[in-house]
Amino acid sequence: MKTIGILGSTGSIGTQSLDVARQHGYRVSFLTAGKNVDLLEDQIREFRPEKAALLDAEKAKELKLRVQDTPTQIFGGEEGICECAALNSADTVINAIVGLAGLRPTLAVLNAGKTLALANKESLVAGGELVLSAANVNHAAILPVDSEHSAIFQCLQGKPTNAALKKIILTASGGPFFGKTIEELSCVTVEQALNHPNWSMGAKITIDSASMFNKGLELIEAVRLFQVTPSQVDIVVHRESIVHSLVMYDDNSVIAQLGLPDMRIPIQYALTYPERFASPVGELDLTQYGKLTFFAPDESTFRCIGICRQAVEKGGLYPAAVNSANEEANAMFRAGLIRFLDIPALIEEAAFTIAPVDSFTLDDIFSVDSRMREAVRQLAKQ
Ligand code: NDP
Repeated sequence: MKTIGILGSTGSIGTQSLDVARQHGYRVSFLTAGKNVDLLEDQIREFRPEKAALLDAEKAKELKLRVQDTPTQIFGGEEGICECAALNSADTVINAIVGLAGLRPTLAVLNAGKTLALANKESLVAGGELVLSAANVNHAAILPVDSEHSAIFQCLQGKPTNAALKKIILTASGGPFFGKTIEELSCVTVEQALNHPNWSMGAKITIDSASMFNKGLELIEAVRLFQVTPSQVDIVVHRESIVHSLVMYDDNSVIAQLGLPDMRIPIQYALTYPERFASPVGELDLTQYGKLTFFAPDESTFRCIGICRQAVEKGGLYPAAVNSANEEANAMFRAGLIRFLDIPALIEEAAFTIAPVDSFTLDDIFSVDSRMREAVRQLAKQ
């Protein structure tokens, strides 16, 4: 029986991962969350993990009291989360934490030589070479959970050994503001931005989808995971979210992966790879769609894509800088402190002020993170 661990088990990806575990009868060795003590308690009672952790140390103490009748050991703080992440009994660990907070746990999983099913794209974007080299040195696989990267990963499996990958074509739903002009975007509300047409996701990624920063993060994620250059990654807006991404080979043959927009397919594939099993997701009936549409993204209105492309081309700490600046701007927009169009403006103004570097450490990433958050807060006051 497969044993999995879940970082961020109370979120959108975390709860869907537990659906998959339930469906296949997987053992769950650990669960972690930020502060949602009620849901984590329910999950502990259902899945009986060896260990569980909450980032919030006070809430962790409360959880410990609540579940003292179970065998689960409770930990608090980031150290506790990382201790769970490195737990020997998990075959595969799903990282479904949101944001840069997932970076240390990602490294803990890889340094323990575990297979990492990665939803937390921010850790790969910001951590870059540090994450890839931890995977290489420890012979630990990183399997994509993001639907686009899972699609690319699946498309690449039939690759003949002599075929060269020419391009990756990432699809984007376009989010709730597809087709809107700069003028129209100047007054959109948080509620409108949270109203994604095709996917039900956590708040941060839903806003990133509306600003298309999410597609920029995915561009960087694709560069890192599939070892291509940024210019080899094309982005196509596909409103129906049925074609999850495509690859083009040297002969211009294009292979795509399709399915209903339901994250349980890519989550399950990351857990069962290279096997496939029945899933709770319905069959795709193309006749119900009649036609599928594809458009070039409007990068002059949705500037976050270009900002991310520039960051990955410049390399060094720039991807970490744009990621952290976006995390702060995204949170400030959700809190009603800035307008939607301030997001790209603040990221651009904050992130490209840092000095170029050839190599960096984990401490450098967190130092850039603090600087970017402070810079975005200060710039927003001007
Ligand atoms: P959610 O906000 O729904 O869930 C986030 C999870 O992380 C929760 O369990 C939360 O705990 C926990 N968490 C939050 N902050 C911290 C922290 N500082 N330290 C430790 N744990 C924390 O996010 P999603 O599930 O939507 O997204 C998770 C990741 O997956 C993101 O990187 C996202 O980009 C990626 N992803 C998500 C998709 C989706 O469909 N949702 C699709 C593709 C990728 P608590 O509940 O206690 O706050």
